[in-house]
Amino acid sequence: MKYFGAHVSAAGGVENAPLNAKNIGAGAFALFTKNQRQWWAAPLSPETIEAFRKNCESLGYSARHILPHDSYLINLGHPESDALEKSRDAFDDEMLRCEQLGLDRLNFHPGSHLNKISVEACLDRVAESINRALDKTQGVTAVIENTAGQGSNVGFSFEHLARIIDKVEDKSRVGVCIDTCHAFAAGYDLSTAEACDRTFAEFDRIVGFRYLRGMHLNDTMKPLASRVDRHQSLGRGELGIEAFKYIAADPRFDDLPLILETPNEELWPEEIAELYRFAGK
Ligand SMILES: [Zn+2]
Ligand SMILES: [Zn+2]
Repeated sequence: MKYFGAHVSAAGGVENAPLNAKNIGAGAFALFTKNQRQWWAAPLSPETIEAFRKNCESLGYSARHILPHDSYLINLGHPESDALEKSRDAFDDEMLRCEQLGLDRLNFHPGSHLNKISVEACLDRVAESINRALDKTQGVTAVIENTAGQGSNVGFSFEHLARIIDKVEDKSRVGVCIDTCHAFAAGYDLSTAEACDRTFAEFDRIVGFRYLRGMHLNDTMKPLASRVDRHQSLGRGELGIEAFKYIAADPRFDDLPLILETPNEELWPEEIAELYRFAGK
């Protein structure tokens, strides 16, 4: 069974996110558990935690269909030790917030080398950051998102994701989220069913479907291998609609949060309904 949704607002409190998801007909959702553009937030209050859990339960959202996303400021592969420490502390806090909310995974962008260390050294720092966070928390999987490879961001190739996973000690608590826009921008063609076959076979060979913990379903404004991250509504960009039909019909993507991060929120109810139709519902 498929679980489609979108990255919904948590304005006014995380407990509003499941309500916002229900309003657009979503079976899954993503959220920020704090302001994504700030380093720190007040701890979650027991009332907020309780309200979030209650709303998820009454609206039928299980943890495995919820994909929280961490702050954009965090760089777990930062080349400088002070800045790396700050990012690691903030990430540990994000993992803790997920644990408190009863969530079982946290989606994040691996990091950037800022042209000061090698790609490999950066990836190894990311893995070490994950090891530290997993030591301090329980029950939450660190979910690495593939990137578009813009600037000095690492994590745009499947080999990068595999290298990080390889250096994470607890393999049961590391996973990946594949963003279709980012994959296409990084040079992985998904514009036809045949291209999807090839790309996902390569993903399975290098990373493995067993590590897949979610997908971000986005079309893109930029051509294949542009290395530029510009999301577009489904079927309205360079990627086209085929990838989304393919994913909706393929059982390898069952029981995962399949999340829209498309730019026009007004289209989300329509996009979600269309994805469910592609899945045969
Ligand atoms: Zn992301
Ligand atoms: Zn994404």
